[in-house]
Amino acid sequence: MKPILIAGGGIGGIATALCLRARGVPFELFEQAAAFREVGAGIQLSANVMRILMKLGLGGPLARIAVMPKGLEVRSWQSGERILWTPLGYEAERHFGAPYYHAHRAEVLELLVGALGSANIHLGCKVASVAHDAQGASLTLEDGSTHAGEAVVAADGIHSLVRDQLFGKGAPRFSGNVAWRGTMPAEAVAGLKLDFLSSNWWGPERSLVHYYISGGRTHNWIGVGRSQAPSRESWSATGNVDDALAEYAGWHPQVLGVIRATTKLFRMALYDREPLPTWHAGRVVLLGDAAHAMLPYHAQGAAQSIEDAYVLAGCIADAPGEPVAAIERYERIRKERAEWVQRFSREAEELFNMSDPARVARRDSRLHENQQKYPSGFPEGQQKIYGYDADAALAGVPA
Ligand SMILES: Cc1cc2nc3c(=O)[nH]c(=O)nc-3n(C[C@H](O)[C@H](O)[C@H](O)COP(=O)(O)OP(=O)(O)OC[C@H]3O[C@@H](n4cnc5c(N)ncnc54)[C@H](O)[C@@H]3O)c2cc1C
Repeated sequence: MKPILIAGGGIGGIATALCLRARGVPFELFEQAAAFREVGAGIQLSANVMRILMKLGLGGPLARIAVMPKGLEVRSWQSGERILWTPLGYEAERHFGAPYYHAHRAEVLELLVGALGSANIHLGCKVASVAHDAQGASLTLEDGSTHAGEAVVAADGIHSLVRDQLFGKGAPRFSGNVAWRGTMPAEAVAGLKLDFLSSNWWGPERSLVHYYISGGRTHNWIGVGRSQAPSRESWSATGNVDDALAEYAGWHPQVLGVIRATTKLFRMALYDREPLPTWHAGRVVLLGDAAHAMLPYHAQGAAQSIEDAYVLAGCIADAPGEPVAAIERYERIRKERAEWVQRFSREAEELFNMSDPARVARRDSRLHENQQKYPSGFPEGQQKIYGYDADAALAGVPA
């Protein structure tokens, strides 16, 4: 069998390579950067994605670098009053059959890359174009070399060149919001006596979540809100603590304490994409942010790309020599799910950053009622996100 060609070595591309290898399918991965890299910030790994990472044998190694939060708490920005509580920790692990972790992105990436090894990985190789016909698919790099394979998986992110090539140039949609991302050594917030939680704060026009990562050695926060001065969609644009404090002026002392303790701060504008009518053309298929870039309110972008990777690898392994049938099956299984999460994440923007006091009161009482309705503590949306079983999804749409 000719290899599956993967364009892009972010979390989605690397997960695709790992899932293909686990199924015995050959691949070649092409990443434009000279080294795999991730930003020094936190990532939430919910049960739906942990279930897959455990199947890849990464459950133990991840447990060693991650933090298992006891619960997800949402508090009001100024009074600190609790709006919502969802158990995580061992209760969520029992309920969903997999843990919920907080981890450092760079450490997760290092672990994935370590599991992958260096065979069939081509760094410093920017894909310039792709082609396909009835016999095969290929990609051409910027240096002019062409590589042939069975199919191309485009995991080249929100600015996907392959997406543009297949479906015409389209710009990502600016959400009107900017994300702050800060980290600090745990000792810097020791005085705040923070618990091991996903601590969410909702206020007018902005929200903030903070949690421990790196086995509890580092604290991390993400603040999302309207901004007069949007910045680039870039993980490397740095931010200024005084500017962040000004945007969160008047917020609860715990929030301000976390921001004040920041030692490393990034600021990036938040974009997503409109759904596409299809994710593939013949033997070329999109995956991860290239297919369904989403806003980060439910912390699901990387999780969805890993779900994609697992399902796509399963479809390819189930249909040797029939890549188009495999790709069509992948799309049937994944598109509706990922685009629902994409929509749900867009809707959350309004829920998290609401300003009008009457609407805020209505939202809070609805969430309180919801809490009574679901004795497990997990509202419907969370059940649907965290409960996803990629093997059941594959079994539900036979090859
Ligand atoms: C503020 C914020 C917080 C988030 N928090 C979470 C979270 O807690 N949990 C979660 O699951 N998700 C989270 N996400 C989403 C998550 O980060 C992304 O969805 C995920 O990283 C997408 O992975 P990807 O591999 O599809 O794309 P990317 O990570 O963008 O990777 C694409 C790769 O392709 C490479 N590439 C691009 N073009 C080419 C080319 N022409 N040739 C070769 N290589 C190329 C790039 O260099 C890059 O390495 C968050 C996002 C934001 C903005």
